[in-house]
Amino acid sequence: MADLVMNLYLNGGKSEGDDNAAQSSYERTDGDVFSRLATDVSTCPFTREDSGEIGWVDNPSNHRDKSDLNDVYADILSSEAIEDLFSRRVKGGDVIKVEGKDGWHLIRVDDLFIKLVGDTDTTADGSKNRINKVRPKLKGSGQIPLSPVFQKIGTDADIIDSNDGIDNDDEQSKMIYSVPNAKHYQILTSGCQMNVADSERIMGVLEGELGLKALDAINTADPTLITTSNKKSKNKKKPTPDILLLNTCTIRDHAEQKVYDALGPYTAMKRAGKPLAIVVAGCVAQQEGEALLRRFPEIDLVLGPQYIPWLGELLVEVGKGSQLCMTESMIWSEKGGIGAIDKDSSREKDGDWMTPIKRGHSVRAWVNVIYGCNEHCTYCVVPSVRGVEQSRSMEAILQECLQLAASGYKEVTLLGQNIDAYGRDMIPKRTFADLLHYLNDNLPPNTISRIRYVTSHPRYFSERVIDAVANLDKVCECFHMPFQAGDDEVLRGMRRGYTFDSYMKIIQKIRAKAPDASICGDVIVGFPGETEEAFQRTLDLMEEVKFDNLNTFAYSPRPNTEAANWENQIPPEVQSERLQRVQALAAKHALERSERYVGKVIEVLVEDRNPKNGGEVMGRTRQGRQVFFEGDIDELKGELVNVEITEARTWSLVGGSIQD
Ligand code: SAM
Ligand code: SF4
Repeated sequence: MADLVMNLYLNGGKSEGDDNAAQSSYERTDGDVFSRLATDVSTCPFTREDSGEIGWVDNPSNHRDKSDLNDVYADILSSEAIEDLFSRRVKGGDVIKVEGKDGWHLIRVDDLFIKLVGDTDTTADGSKNRINKVRPKLKGSGQIPLSPVFQKIGTDADIIDSNDGIDNDDEQSKMIYSVPNAKHYQILTSGCQMNVADSERIMGVLEGELGLKALDAINTADPTLITTSNKKSKNKKKPTPDILLLNTCTIRDHAEQKVYDALGPYTAMKRAGKPLAIVVAGCVAQQEGEALLRRFPEIDLVLGPQYIPWLGELLVEVGKGSQLCMTESMIWSEKGGIGAIDKDSSREKDGDWMTPIKRGHSVRAWVNVIYGCNEHCTYCVVPSVRGVEQSRSMEAILQECLQLAASGYKEVTLLGQNIDAYGRDMIPKRTFADLLHYLNDNLPPNTISRIRYVTSHPRYFSERVIDAVANLDKVCECFHMPFQAGDDEVLRGMRRGYTFDSYMKIIQKIRAKAPDASICGDVIVGFPGETEEAFQRTLDLMEEVKFDNLNTFAYSPRPNTEAANWENQIPPEVQSERLQRVQALAAKHALERSERYVGKVIEVLVEDRNPKNGGEVMGRTRQGRQVFFEGDIDELKGELVNVEITEARTWSLVGGSIQD
């Protein structure tokens, strides 16, 4: 099971002649312009009535006999025109002009459905996804690593059929199949918000598709003990997981080493005979690929981030004895969308097809808007592990936000490694400012009242985004603008594409148009060749900006990055001394920035109980500062409360609510 078969869900409208009028009218941002266009302007007799809906089409090249292709679209588009669409590697949201049977049609690709089928180890585009049918023996011990059986909800209990290509008389197979069904999972997440968002989708699949239950946090001192939040049962032995999933980060060496340390006890457990599926997902999985399977043969599945929607199917295969490495790049697909499994959806296909998602919070949620990164910063591993940029369509993003709004969410954070690149890969092109306007205008009032986003790139950041932040009521006054270094020579070495002065020009524009906004950043110290004078420029830049919050990093050489091979590396002791200086200055500025709120009344969105004081709640200002004040979380969770600030701390504020 490794072929990827793609279907497209199409929406179309026909225009007379080969003119661009329809296309330019589509480039407006209000509502679903395309559907209106298909109804009001299109002359296509087949789709006018259905707001342009064509439905799912298969790739004609998958059909030897073209006569079994769908008749509905055959009336509108020839199989050659459809083949043309597939050959362009279109993505959800793309709008393309295609020559149809009786004129030009404007086609929007609404969705992609990519399915894992077949039993070869080659994907549809010829690339390899290594799948071993039966796991290799453990080095030295001669034992076979066991995995429990996984079963998708609503499928037959007997999931091992005679056509799965595995010889069931084989002794290995007997051992594999004599283990119980999986019940509990454990997930460890490291890294950035992207990984946290990915883990929410992983948990959604494990619970929504496979019916597994989460165990509480692992006790790292004794990994065979699962601790619970209930103090009484702290030392009681709890069930160990049937599946361990590590969602990993490789941005710095330290993060990567943590993955290998975490794996140790579980591979030992498995060697000792515990039936356990081990999955490594995230950036280390993507970076190391098959090398991980060679280093830790106990691992069952190496899962690149774009394969998360298929985790359910892949684990069923693992339960049958396969060992898989799914890391080849492919077009991102949401497997039909994100959200609750919607059996009544008119777009339902094959029973279960939305990627379920288990949100970690009930007030604020992450929403991916662009995957991957096309930049080549010489220190950064992200482009090699997250692939090329791929923007999600504005309609799909709005749809996800509307679902969140209907479930009572109040805040969304839009995610992208370089969010200012949003839309440049789309047909027609969009910009991130377009997306902010589109969401702000189309989210119903009194639902989601706050839109945040990360991360901006100073090279591509546009003034239209500052205007959007300054003028749109839902977009929060909060900028995350990594600068990485203050010295122009170092910035050139990093290949960031801006200078000290051009970065400061952006800051001045922000301060002029949105004076109340917070400005946060990321900085790296000890980049190869950074002299003391160059480092001083970093401190100078910090003095000029005075960041509200700063993420500070010591440079760490990463595999497949240019700077890792340079000879002018900075000794660790110099790096850590600079890191301390940067952190001390960042804390001083953060406190100064906090102090500007004292005595003011500020709108706070309440998120949680204060973990250190049950009588207090914690919320955030629009600028992103945490605020603690007295209150009952059951009453206030998700509410916007006016709070008078009485005390400034370095990274947070203290206050009291003002009764209306
Ligand atoms: N895409 C964002 C950007 O362009 O700034 C952030 C990407 S990365 C997940 C977050 C931060 O990690 C970066 O802004 C950078 O400061 C830091 N970082 C990335 N690679 C690093 C490396 N090799 N060593 C130390 N810090 C690094
Ligand atoms: Fe890494 Fe640069 Fe891309 Fe950010 S923009 S993810 S730092 S390569």
